[in-house]
Amino acid sequence: MSFTLAIVGRPNVGKSTLFNRLVGKKIALVDDQPGVTRDLREGAARLGDIEFTVIDTAGLEEATDESLQGRMRKLTERAVDMADVCLFMIDARAGVTPTDQLFAEILRKRAPRVILGCNKSEGRAADAGVIEAYGLGLGEPLRISAEHGEGMSELYSMLMPIS
Ligand code: GDP
Ligand code: MG
Repeated sequence: MSFTLAIVGRPNVGKSTLFNRLVGKKIALVDDQPGVTRDLREGAARLGDIEFTVIDTAGLEEATDESLQGRMRKLTERAVDMADVCLFMIDARAGVTPTDQLFAEILRKRAPRVILGCNKSEGRAADAGVIEAYGLGLGEPLRISAEHGEGMSELYSMLMPIS
């Protein structure tokens, strides 16, 4: 049995960087796949011996007339409803922002399984943000670095039980 992981979070936290790492360069992005809009990019992911579907909520990064908050809520809810598990990503270097708080609220209400990923966690600059992340009420934060590939074995061990 396979599962679907949705990567959600505000713009610029590193969602697409992780998406690309999990999907790899060999597999093309399937923007025009039936049932998948440009706002939600879907790809075939692999982490060690686990294969799964990954969704990147890409639409938030595009400028539109609609407010970021309204768009964020709609997109996040769609992604959550498609997914078995959500990786809610924050930028640990930036710390927890009001927008992160809003995401956390949506996820606490709607997502059955949430992994709280503190991205950009390479080095000590992330330590304060990781401690702050405990306050989001979404369990123990997972330190990752999408860019440097750190925390991938910890992510693996969290995904393995549902694979
Ligand atoms: P998205 O808007 O959430 O999809 O974020 P992107 O994946 O586009 O990344 C936003 C910025 O953060 C880019 O400049 C990335 O290179 C950078 N970034 C992503 N992951 C990391 C990381 O693990 N560490 C650091 N320091 N920067 C990162
Ligand atoms: Mg992106």
